[in-house]
Amino acid sequence: MRLWSRELWRLALIVAAASLAGWLLDAVALGLAAGLAIVLLMQLRQLYVLHRWLTRHSQAEPPTARGLWGELFDRLYKYQKTQRITQQRLRDTLQRIQDSSEAMSDSVVMLDRRGDLEWWNSAAGRMLGLQTAHDRGQHITNLLRDPRFIDYFNARHYREPLTLPSPIDERQMLQFQITLYGDDERLLMARDITRLHRLEQMRRDFVANVSHELRTPLTVLAGYLETYADVADQLPPRLGRGLGQMQAQTSRMQSLVNDLLLLSRLEIDRRGDDEVPLAVDSLLETIRRDAESLSAGRHQLRVECDDPRRLVGSEQELRSAISNLAFNAVRYAGDGCHITLRWRSYHDAACLEVEDNGEGIDPVHIPRLTERFYRVDKGRSTATGGTGLGLAIVKHVLLRHDARLEIVSHPGRGALFRCVFPTSRLAQPSAVAAPPQA
Ligand code: ADP
Repeated sequence: MRLWSRELWRLALIVAAASLAGWLLDAVALGLAAGLAIVLLMQLRQLYVLHRWLTRHSQAEPPTARGLWGELFDRLYKYQKTQRITQQRLRDTLQRIQDSSEAMSDSVVMLDRRGDLEWWNSAAGRMLGLQTAHDRGQHITNLLRDPRFIDYFNARHYREPLTLPSPIDERQMLQFQITLYGDDERLLMARDITRLHRLEQMRRDFVANVSHELRTPLTVLAGYLETYADVADQLPPRLGRGLGQMQAQTSRMQSLVNDLLLLSRLEIDRRGDDEVPLAVDSLLETIRRDAESLSAGRHQLRVECDDPRRLVGSEQELRSAISNLAFNAVRYAGDGCHITLRWRSYHDAACLEVEDNGEGIDPVHIPRLTERFYRVDKGRSTATGGTGLGLAIVKHVLLRHDARLEIVSHPGRGALFRCVFPTSRLAQPSAVAAPPQA
């Protein structure tokens, strides 16, 4: 404020001095006009100096000036200096980010909100075959054309990664993961998981081969044991007891091998080959009859079906999954319990449920129940003939049908196993081809 008033005084003094000189010369108006003209010229000169400094030497020291103009020059100079420092810092940070992305062995690709390529590191160039000159500004799906990638990209559900062969080398397996950030922009990362994939493949093949190789010796053993069992009454009682145990353990091993083979098949086989629209009511009725014969009258079983729509899936796989749930209910719910097999619809999903009012499960075990060989009570599970693979099989079958398993249970309040299918898996009853007339 003081600067302002000093400046005004200075200008007023100049105008007053010029007017006084005019009055002495008997031309006040001319003196006043001359005073104003001097003030105007002084301001124009400073403006010119400011303009020249800003356009030609803005990095140099500011021109010296008195009063308000001097203050203005100093402030502008300081402001420019801090701006330059901030810009330099931003440039350095950006450079460091680019350098660290360059040093990464994983691919990093930045996409704009339309999905066009903005920037990528050299690993992305190597793994995905992106070329700077041609590909900048192109849509990502023009370069990664695998339909699975296009579906993944358009679906916008990026919680799970996607595994695909590299577009430039079929033998290289890549894991893609997209992250949304900023104004609907996307960051695509791709990781080379060829080694991990090979190890996983070897593990699967190993389990499948061992299970397969065990099948024949077990069948031979079971066959001989059955023959000996026919003449068990002629054997000494000590040997007879051993024979019974050998038979029970052989059949347990056979169930285990069969479940392991089924799991490997679910992991290896291509999905969707035997999928048809299934009549769920008759599927549940068949499973109820099988479960009833396992229960041998110890439980009350019933089927509830309130959705006429069909479920598109593999009959063999779904039957095996729902049977596992129903047999588990028979094995673990306890005698005298009610077991319900249910097919019901919700607005955005349809559910196959197996519910019992038996002993239930402590919620601490629920997150781990679908792990292979996880049992709540190992002794009890073995005694009831369980292999520890039942719920792992259910989970795999559901994954192959785009479905998920929900488990709701509390000790003493029964258990509910719910398989939730998306509506894309449902078909109207008319979608089933009519059986050929005899
Ligand atoms: P298992 O071959 O041991 O039955 P599963 O994977 O089928 O293996 O089941 C895992 C465990 O879940 C079982 O050991 C059992 O303790 C528990 N379980 C499964 N279904 C039920 C049920 N309906 N009620 C109580 N416990 C259950």
